[in-house]
Amino acid sequence: MTFSTIQSIIDEIKSGRTSATAIVEATLADIKARDGALGAFLETFDADALAQAAAIDALVKNAKENGGELPPLAGVPVAIKDNMLYTGHKATACSKILAEHTATYNSTVVERLIAAGAIIIGRTNMDDAAMGSSTETSAWQKTYNPWNITKIPGGSSGGSAVAVAAGFVPVALGSDTGGSVRQPAAMCGVVGVKPSYGRVSRYGIIALGSSLDQVGVFSHTASDAALILSVIGGRDEHDATSVEKAWGVIGEPSMNGLRVGVPKEYFVDGMDEEVRSRISEAIELMKQAGAEIVDLSLPLTPFALPTYYIIQPAEASSNLGRYDGMRYGTRAPGSLEESYINARGQGFGPEVKRRIMLGTFILSAGYYDSYYKKALAVRTAIRAEFDDAFKHVDVILSPTAPGVAWNMGEKMNDPVAMYLADIFTVAANIAGIAGISIPCGFAHNLPVGLQFLAGSMQDEKALQAAAAYQSITSWHDQHPVV
Ligand code: GLN
Repeated sequence: MTFSTIQSIIDEIKSGRTSATAIVEATLADIKARDGALGAFLETFDADALAQAAAIDALVKNAKENGGELPPLAGVPVAIKDNMLYTGHKATACSKILAEHTATYNSTVVERLIAAGAIIIGRTNMDDAAMGSSTETSAWQKTYNPWNITKIPGGSSGGSAVAVAAGFVPVALGSDTGGSVRQPAAMCGVVGVKPSYGRVSRYGIIALGSSLDQVGVFSHTASDAALILSVIGGRDEHDATSVEKAWGVIGEPSMNGLRVGVPKEYFVDGMDEEVRSRISEAIELMKQAGAEIVDLSLPLTPFALPTYYIIQPAEASSNLGRYDGMRYGTRAPGSLEESYINARGQGFGPEVKRRIMLGTFILSAGYYDSYYKKALAVRTAIRAEFDDAFKHVDVILSPTAPGVAWNMGEKMNDPVAMYLADIFTVAANIAGIAGISIPCGFAHNLPVGLQFLAGSMQDEKALQAAAAYQSITSWHDQHPVV
């Protein structure tokens, strides 16, 4: 079942050719055998996963004997990022300060997956508090790129990307605040979707930047991702920012007549030439298949990254204020003051501290207007620029990242170089629009990702474009040998 699509797993289970228990046992054994070298998983939930599988098998048996429908994801194993709450299980956001944190309730996405018959297999490695682009800031372990284990898997949802890329699970959830689903998907050669802001509930997700965060999906195909989103998405009364919009089915994939905008600002100097070639080839192929390629200009593009690195640290410093060892987080010994200082001093990693300091500075009385308020104004302008562009095109195409996976450790002492890895992904979070990364070939023997953006609440267009591209290419059928 390695590299199976969700649909094929569901078909196998429904037909009775295999059981959910057999799938879960095989998945757990596979992770035990092969993940030691990759480090995608922090933990597998063996007992609960087997119990869930047994319940699904009972449903299948009952459906066969007495008729009745099976839930839409019956028996599909799913991995979740370590910042998603699952009752009774640890959720640490790979931060020392949450080392002992056990979820007391289910995040909405987990709740909906379980209700749909999916099986939560385990939790995956990520950057400390979801800050990073390589999964190397995790307090617990490193994760290695399955295409070349000397390379990073991307981040911050690197563990979930590898869980799918290595064939452990057909689908995994991540969260994307500035690219943390799309960028690791690109680095690992899988599909990664960041929905429009509000289309998936954030309830029970450990917050990073609340106006930017969205739960996203890793899979092998756009249609598998669409299926998962139709289950986890939609309005949730626990998240006031979630919207009442059902996920539409993505129809027959076709490039014919698709208007694809190509913004010149996304083809910057300094981007990898081989990556540039793969993207140009993809554009040519789409043109031949009937897409209409429209040259675009999005002049505010260079401001997206600086805007992100104002708003995100500001929101992060506020969200992380609750981890003080008293209300949340591991308590440190000493007097009251010492305890506060030590809990935060020892519990947060260097990147998290950097963002907290930056965010606190940005929000301080003397600087709020010149940084935070200004960034919000630029954000509004960026959003308007996208709105305008989407009047003329269905989707916007760009590279997902300016290069391929880099060497482990290479950017760890250069935060700005690390931030630049997100240059093509952050704008979607700032504008609240939809984005998807799909494999489009290789450069330097490593996967390259192609990004489609679609307007807010127009996610289906990005998924459709991606499905159409996948229907005329087979990059997503290439897998690493690990
Ligand atoms: N790499 C970006 C950051 O460090 C994005 C993180 C994310 O999307 N969670 O902020």
